[in-house]
Amino acid sequence: MPGRLQDKVAIVTGAGSGIGRAIALRFAAEGATVVAADVSGGERAVAAEGGERVEPFSCDVSDEAAVVALMEHCRDRHGRLDVLANNAGISNSPERVHEMDMAAFDRVMAVNVRGSYLVLKHALPLLLRAPSGASVVNTASIGGFRATPGASPYLMSKGAQVMMTRVAALEYVKDGIRVNAVCPGTTETAILDGSTPEMREMLSARIPIGRLGAPEEVANLALFLASDESSYITGQCYVIDGGRSAG
Ligand code: NAD
Repeated sequence: MPGRLQDKVAIVTGAGSGIGRAIALRFAAEGATVVAADVSGGERAVAAEGGERVEPFSCDVSDEAAVVALMEHCRDRHGRLDVLANNAGISNSPERVHEMDMAAFDRVMAVNVRGSYLVLKHALPLLLRAPSGASVVNTASIGGFRATPGASPYLMSKGAQVMMTRVAALEYVKDGIRVNAVCPGTTETAILDGSTPEMREMLSARIPIGRLGAPEEVANLALFLASDESSYITGQCYVIDGGRSAG
């Protein structure tokens, strides 16, 4: 049986770890050729794990020349791009606003806001040429809607990605490009490195389903939004948080 992304070409940023890794492997398992982009070197391990359908590409999404090189690589090697999972992101250490280190603020904005915008901007010329429409899946966060103390740059950056998703959806709807976002709650990835077992316990206790999310569960939602199964959905930001934001 053909996969749900059979013969599509996809780029996944932040593919070296966590949610991006799970998305890259899931897309490949569903028949896509995946360019797995990351700055960490983790993209090479993911490509080795994913087999011939996953190819690594070293790219810092905050560097415009590197993003352009990523798109040129995809164009020259595959001649097209059907799916973009715009996922790379970083967080900041928990400080209140008056204590925030502005270098940390600038870094979060450079990667999460400028970086995701650069990736979208430079992918669009290729996406516009996709033969049967294209899909963009941004990784925003429940934090794009819901405030918690101590992560102002990160939460602001995720709010920006929610609005980027909606604006781009409207701008490119007539071109056959759908733009949506996944908005995870707390998910078991390297972003939680440094959390103590007690902190994880406390985080889990706040989630109605009773545990943190798995990257593969977010990848399932990204797959649905990337595939033609979601052909009537654009401009939407889907929360996947174990029920945390329901109450
Ligand atoms: P992660 O740290 O496991 O993965 C992030 C990946 O992005 C890493 O491989 C990292 O090397 C890469 N990356 C960082 N800066 C980059 C850059 N400048 N250029 C290219 N790649 C870069 O974390 P994750 O949880 O999988 O995060 C993925 C996305 O999910 C992020 O956008 C994050 O904000 C979002 N998110 C995560 C959670 C969570 O709880 N884990 C919740 C909501 C949203």
